[in-house]
Amino acid sequence: MAQPPPYIELYESGELERRAARLEARLEECDICPRRCGANRLKNETGSCNAGKLVAVASVCAHHGEEPVLSGSRGSGTIFFGNCNMRCVYCQNHQISQDPDRQRSNQVSPSRLANRMLYLQNELNCHNINLVSPTHYIPQILQAIFEAVPQGLRLPLVYNTNAYDDVETLAELEGVISIYLPDLKYADSNLAARLSDVPHYVPTARAAIKEMYRQTGELELDEDDIAVSGLIIRHLILPNDLAGSEASVKWIAGELSRSVPISLMAQYTPRHRALEVPLLSRSINAAEYRRVINLLDVLGMENGWLQDDSSQDYYLPDFNREDHPFERG
Ligand code: SF4
Repeated sequence: MAQPPPYIELYESGELERRAARLEARLEECDICPRRCGANRLKNETGSCNAGKLVAVASVCAHHGEEPVLSGSRGSGTIFFGNCNMRCVYCQNHQISQDPDRQRSNQVSPSRLANRMLYLQNELNCHNINLVSPTHYIPQILQAIFEAVPQGLRLPLVYNTNAYDDVETLAELEGVISIYLPDLKYADSNLAARLSDVPHYVPTARAAIKEMYRQTGELELDEDDIAVSGLIIRHLILPNDLAGSEASVKWIAGELSRSVPISLMAQYTPRHRALEVPLLSRSINAAEYRRVINLLDVLGMENGWLQDDSSQDYYLPDFNREDHPFERG
C-alpha cells in the first residue's frame, strides 16, 4: 500500500490552510515570484505574468510523453496553466503562455481547479498531478489542494517549472510538492534577459533549485518505478550553445549531486518569435547534442533520460487541441 503524500499531514494539522491564507494575502502586493511586481491581484490587477485573481487552466490531460517515472503506464495527470512569468522568444507553449486575452476564457476558481485534480486522479487514473508553469498561481493551487484533500485527493504533486521561482515562496511548498521538475534554462543571465526578458535568471534559478533539492533530496521510485519524491532537472539544449549546457551541467554536478537525474531535451525547434533571433533559427544538430551527452558521461552523471531523434515532432504541443495537446489530431 502506497504511503499517503505528505500534504495529508499538513492538511490534518491545519498547516495547509494557514499556508494557503498566507500566500493569498501576498497577492495584495504580489511578490509570489522573483519579479515582485506588487500588483494587487486580489483586485484583479496584473503584473508581468498577466495573471490576476483567478487561475487560468489551459489544458488538463493524461500525458504519456513525460519522463517514464512520471508518465508510467497510466500517464502523468497534467494541468497546463495559462500565462507565464517569463517571455521566451522561442516558447514552445506560446499559445497558452503568451496570449493573456485567450486565457481570460480559461479562468477558474480554486474549487474548479480542485475538481480538475480529482478528475485526473479518479477518472483518468493518473500516477500524479503534474502542475505545468505553476509559479504565478501558487496561492490558488494551495487553496485548491486544501479543498481537494477532504474530497479524496491522494496523488503526489509534481511542480513543473521554468525555475524562475522565489525561495521564500517555495518554502511554503515544503511537504506539499513531492517531485520538483525545474528546467534550468540558462547559465548566462544576460542571455536570459535577451531571450526570455527576465532579470537575474541564473542566480535566481540556481537558488530555487537548491531549495527544491533541500526539500526533497534524491529521486525515489516505488516498486513499479514510478517517482514518489525527489528532484529531476530538465535542460533544453538550444542551438549555438545559447543554453550554456556545459556550465549548467557542471553546476548541478558540483553544487547538488552527480546522482540528480537530468532530463536532456533535444526537442528545440524555432517557434513563436524565434526566427527574429538568427542564432535561434534552427534546431540543434547531432554534434551539439552529442557534446552534452559526452559531458554527462565524463562527469559520471548516469541518471536521467535522453530524448531520441524523433522527439522534435512528438513533444511539440498544439493547445488548440485542449484535451490532448500532445497527440496527433
Ligand atoms: S507572480 Fe506575476 S504578478 Fe506576482 S510577482 Fe510574479 S510576475 Fe509579478
